[in-house]
Amino acid sequence: MSTTVEHHKCLIIGSGPAGYTAAIYAARADLKPVMIQGMQPGGQLTITTEVENYPGYPKGTHGPQMMEDFKAQAERFGTDIRWGYVSSVDFTGPVHKIIVDEKTEMTADTIIIATGASAKWLGLESEQRLNGFGVSACAVCDGFFFKGQDVAIVGAGDTAAEEATYLAKLCRKVYMIVRRDEMRASKAMQHRVMNTANIEVLYNSETKEILGDKGVSGALVHNNKTGEDRTLEVTGFFVAIGHDPNTKIFKNWLDLDETGYIKTIPGSTRTNIEGVFAAGDAQDHIYRQAVTAAGSGCMAAIDAERYLAAKGIH
Ligand code: NDP
Repeated sequence: MSTTVEHHKCLIIGSGPAGYTAAIYAARADLKPVMIQGMQPGGQLTITTEVENYPGYPKGTHGPQMMEDFKAQAERFGTDIRWGYVSSVDFTGPVHKIIVDEKTEMTADTIIIATGASAKWLGLESEQRLNGFGVSACAVCDGFFFKGQDVAIVGAGDTAAEEATYLAKLCRKVYMIVRRDEMRASKAMQHRVMNTANIEVLYNSETKEILGDKGVSGALVHNNKTGEDRTLEVTGFFVAIGHDPNTKIFKNWLDLDETGYIKTIPGSTRTNIEGVFAAGDAQDHIYRQAVTAAGSGCMAAIDAERYLAAKGIH
């Protein structure tokens, strides 16, 4: 008995700002998009609290609510949004295959990848419990809430250095917790950190616990060289130890950079495979904002529409 494989003009993988924006544009262009939401419907914004930097919300909104709004807008134009995650893909032929939940095959003329990235975390129970309540992986998103307060940031790469200097402009004091006796960040970024008076770098230091019940009230830091423990009195705790793009299932097909981000042809969302487009944090390690992800989601839908038109697929 043969089973019929569902075929669509446009499949969108992932449901963050990039995926939903691609869906709104694709649906309005009559591509009848089908979206596979993925493991974390709504993406990274669903684990943040307030969002104040997305244009169009003068009073701010909450990340989960914003993603509900995006979803409602995508559904209004007929996007078929489905539970499930894409477990593998096959981009060998002109028609692209995906497997959903390790069992259901679907095919499509165009695929828009909007699988995002995931922040790396220290792995502490307190970090998970206080996530969104003083613990954040995005200084640009959440730094504002700690204006005039003391905060800590863990990490020693370019992101941590950049975010520490960003926080230093808003906060009274920034502790930068570095696990080795040196930073990985570029020399230029290190200079910026060193030349910022209200940043104190704690080398050889490891966070043992983030303190607080309903919000952050401090961080317990252990110095591996002196063996001393120190409690930092902070109300915000930022984690900037890198991100992992959610692109593992594409690695046999798409050109990825050395850290796993999907390479797109500059000025477009096209990948090395015809008809496969990438948007949002899965292909952007530089800006990583909801609004930039949404912008590239729009680009991906327009690129997909033009590709289909050029191929005469209606
Ligand atoms: P990186 O991987 O470069 O740095 C991660 C940092 O986190 C390292 O210093 C690492 O320490 C530290 N770290 C990792 N795990 C832990 C842990 N469990 N506990 C404590 N510390 C930990 O990530 P970034 O996000 O900083 O940068 C990603 C890429 O983006 C890089 O190539 C970077 O250069 C680039 N970038 C460039 C910018 C720019 O040019 N303006 C701005 C931001 C990013 P250790 O050093 O000991 O391994």
